Amino acid sequence: MLFTDDTVEALRAAVHLVNTAEDPDTLVTEDDVAAFLEAFPYTGRIDRDPAELTGLRALRPQLRSVLLASRDEMVARINAALREVTLDARLVRHDGADWHLHAVADDRPFAERILAETAMALIDVVRANEGSRISVCADETCGGVVLDLSRNRSRRYCSTTCTNRNAVAAYRSRQR
Ligand SMILES: [Zn+2]
Ligand SMILES: [Zn+2]
Repeated sequence: MLFTDDTVEALRAAVHLVNTAEDPDTLVTEDDVAAFLEAFPYTGRIDRDPAELTGLRALRPQLRSVLLASRDEMVARINAALREVTLDARLVRHDGADWHLHAVADDRPFAERILAETAMALIDVVRANEGSRISVCADETCGGVVLDLSRNRSRRYCSTTCTNRNAVAAYRSRQR
């Protein structure tokens, strides 16, 4: 096991959120926030209002920067994030998830909680020196972030769309 389940889930959620900023943007309405919540069920405060949507949209470039940072820069950005949030760390167990850390109180804004959880998850990435598992999609036209948790580090594309597009392109170039 590379990382604990809660770390993996936090990293997946952060990458998913960052990748909604790719063209076309898929975090535009409150329905889009609902879809994100369906994919990544969060406990705690959910406002379902424009301020929350704005907060999540504004969080995306910050998450992107920290996820794709070099090790030293990632440490600096994690530390900055930990200063930015109101830490209220405690161990909790809920909804079938075994003991894990909640770094901020459940009533803090959604974007702040995601930032804190991403920072906590990236602490594990830094400690394991596994930052190379987070990269930019190998598709030339895509800026999506790839989280590669595969055993043989084989994941190069951010989505099945990008994987398939490049498989087709490779096939065509072999035919020529
Ligand atoms: Zn939890
Ligand atoms: Zn891609």
